[in-house]
Amino acid sequence: MNLLLFTTSDCLEDGRLAVTDRRLQHLREVHRAAVGDQVRVGEVNGAVGTGILLELDSRRAVLSVDLDSPPPVKLPLELFVALPRPKMLRRILRTAAECGVARLRLFNSYRVEKSYWQTPVLAEQSIREYLLQGLEQARDTVLPEVSCHRLFKPFVEDELPQLLQGKRALLAHPGEHQPCPRDLAQPTVAILGPEGGFIPYEVEKLVNAGAQPVSLGPRILRVETAVTSLLGRMA
Ligand code: SAM
Repeated sequence: MNLLLFTTSDCLEDGRLAVTDRRLQHLREVHRAAVGDQVRVGEVNGAVGTGILLELDSRRAVLSVDLDSPPPVKLPLELFVALPRPKMLRRILRTAAECGVARLRLFNSYRVEKSYWQTPVLAEQSIREYLLQGLEQARDTVLPEVSCHRLFKPFVEDELPQLLQGKRALLAHPGEHQPCPRDLAQPTVAILGPEGGFIPYEVEKLVNAGAQPVSLGPRILRVETAVTSLLGRMA
């Protein structure tokens, strides 16, 4: 936790900040913080600054807070990812938030296991929790927007062309394609497939909607590794 994130619901009436949950545990057990210490703090979707520990015991930590800087700027990058298994989803949520991705769209495709759509990881509160962990790591405060698109055809036919308007769209797909670009000189959407890959019909639909197939190299990467590789190249 490189940034202690809070919301107004954590604030006392006098404006001081009181934390009682895993953040308290982290301050005590990992930072081994003491009264008088300074910690980096940030308001969710707001500014970042400094907190000074005024009280600290096993029940709560109380801090005075001075917010003086904007959060880091997001990348002009959106990720559209076929819904992966829950374990990978958790990591992708954290990584997307950590690396400054502005938006994440999770969509269905033929090789997405139907049961993945039932995972508790997709609950709003759970998504928020994993995103917050990524933000804490990267000292960012702004939650990436996350949305789910449970039907491939309406998503790709009715929504995608508009969503890609004015943006460069890259379809990460193993094979003999152009290498994935190494810049974010223009707003970009990167589309990644499910663990079993896209079927040819889906590739055709995505290309018709304006996406350009690109390669991340000769090795077939797991989805979460492909996400990291793509971010490592472009960010
Ligand atoms: N057998 C599947 C195929 O050939 O499409 C493998 C799918 S891969 C495990 C999962 C996703 O990661 C792919 O749909 C693609 O979006 C991305 N990916 C993995 N390796 C890649 C590579 N070398 N180039 C481009 N995309 C890649």
